[in-house]
Amino acid sequence: MRWTVLTLFPEVFRPPWSAGLFGKAVEKGILEVDLVNYRDYAEGRHKVVDDTPFGGGSGMVIKVEPVARALLELRTKNPKVHVVLLTPQGALLNQAKVRRLCGHGHLALLCGRYEGVDERIRRLVDEELSIGDYVLSGGEPAAWVLMDAVSRLVPGVLGSEESVCEESFSEGSLLEYPQYTRPREHSGLEVPEILLSGDHQAIARWRRRQALLRTVRRRPELLESLSMTEEERTWLLEQERFEGD
Ligand code: SAM
Repeated sequence: MRWTVLTLFPEVFRPPWSAGLFGKAVEKGILEVDLVNYRDYAEGRHKVVDDTPFGGGSGMVIKVEPVARALLELRTKNPKVHVVLLTPQGALLNQAKVRRLCGHGHLALLCGRYEGVDERIRRLVDEELSIGDYVLSGGEPAAWVLMDAVSRLVPGVLGSEESVCEESFSEGSLLEYPQYTRPREHSGLEVPEILLSGDHQAIARWRRRQALLRTVRRRPELLESLSMTEEERTWLLEQERFEGD
């Protein structure tokens, strides 16, 4: 997978991509990261990339021309690139969108700064995404979040392919079951006996039920999108009934 990040602050991206699993994936050529600075596409001696908003108001707005030039060059060289504008006004990122984005071989992420970007830049992108209902000072952390979530699904990036199959949101909107490791007991808290039984079928059933219970208790709004058997539904209702007894 190839990533292009368009930003005024390319230096922000160097450390995360040179460490850990992603650093190794870059070394192996599984991931490729290009950083593009809008300033390189700005004209004039001062290479101005932002300006005050028409109509008044505080702050600066990223200008359309440098971004348009950068994107024109990018699209000419890479006609299949999928361009995403990071903005708090975009569609909310979730695991289904992460999976879909992973299908693109080349993603370009457009980071805003200051008061945001000139409205006409929206016409130049393929989609607009937000990482949550809050406002960051720049698109770079949002780009990093998106790159992390998508890149870990690229085959060969994580050590074990299995680890992405069973985690939260891998099956629709289900949260992951509780995980334990050594020791068996800590401050009176014991690992559930079933996980030590060696009975893989029983463990799989326990995990599935715990995942359902955890999702219903922590994120009840996800309940509607969960598919479950009649037996699981009855079991869940029983847990809710006895809760607090
Ligand atoms: N004035 C803009 C607004 O109200 O929509 C917010 C601008 S914000 C201070 C600067 C930049 O940070 C945005 O252009 C965007 O690239 C990025 N950003 C901020 N919050 C974000 C979020 N929740 N998701 C994605 N990008 C975000």
